[in-house]
Amino acid sequence: MLNRLEEIRKRGLEKIGEAADLDKLQETRRELTGKKGELTEVLKGLGKLEPDEKRSVGMKANEIKTFFADKIKEREEQIIASQSALDEDIDVTLPGTMVPGGALHPITQMCYDLNDAFLSLGFEIFNEDDISSEKYAFDNLNFPPDHPARATMDTYWIDGTENKNGTERLCMRPHLTGASVRYLLQHGAPARFVYPGRVYRNENTDARHERAFFQYEALVVDKDLSFSSGKVMIQTILEKVFGRKIKVRMREGFFPFTEPGYEIDMECLVCGGKGCRVCNNVGWIEVMPGGVIHPNVLKAANLDPDEWSGFYTNIGLDRLVMMRYGVDDVRLFHSADLRFLSQFK
Ligand SMILES: [Zn+2]
Repeated sequence: MLNRLEEIRKRGLEKIGEAADLDKLQETRRELTGKKGELTEVLKGLGKLEPDEKRSVGMKANEIKTFFADKIKEREEQIIASQSALDEDIDVTLPGTMVPGGALHPITQMCYDLNDAFLSLGFEIFNEDDISSEKYAFDNLNFPPDHPARATMDTYWIDGTENKNGTERLCMRPHLTGASVRYLLQHGAPARFVYPGRVYRNENTDARHERAFFQYEALVVDKDLSFSSGKVMIQTILEKVFGRKIKVRMREGFFPFTEPGYEIDMECLVCGGKGCRVCNNVGWIEVMPGGVIHPNVLKAANLDPDEWSGFYTNIGLDRLVMMRYGVDDVRLFHSADLRFLSQFK
């Protein structure tokens, strides 16, 4: 009987060595140590043997079982190691397969650059929800009750709130400026913060109008804030973004939430101020409206207009991107045409 067991060990070892893959090895395992395996049969027949023989055969059979388990484990590791090795030689001189990588849209890059520039001047970035209310979008900002922008034509009012007033009458924010009072009510003054985001207008889409677009607004509120500090702030931001000195000029402008209001122009970087198609041959390009915060807006933010003053600026991201790359048609940036956009990676 012991000789038969040695025979089983010998044949089993050969079979384990011959198993070429994991499936084959699993099959061999069943054959050698499974319920129907030869070894199990020997163990089942122990009862018929004499006590002495029973003991030695039992010990031997169990020893072989452990032996098989160890050898199978070894072989398994060998198979796994050989599978992970490369089957064929590879030619490292062949050209590789190009995996196209994504990139940020140039307008998003500009937004991030502005964030960096403002953060370096101690500004905070404030994110407001896209849904606002009549109170924040209009009442707080000194819009007269009959102002046309309040009408359904321009603003998306939320269904079911049209007949309400103030904070109960909800809308998709038509501009960012409402966030200024919201922030001031939460944080008080002095304050310096930017609030980039998407705004919504109920308009027909054409070459110059979109139903949703990005704006980037900044506000600084402090005591004894002179008007010229607003101009210096804008110049500093533009210089940080463009990495060079930028000429800026201000013209009169009107916005309900400013007094006085200004249109801020920068020199046209496409033509260097000589005049071109982008700047309508004037050498200047309008990049941001702005102005001194209106006393009524400060009051809406629970601030005393005799004590506090502030300076708004609303930066046209599209225009800055056109200036950065010298591109003369803004629609290209909204075209989702990768042949165009992939140049800005
Ligand atoms: Zn120009």
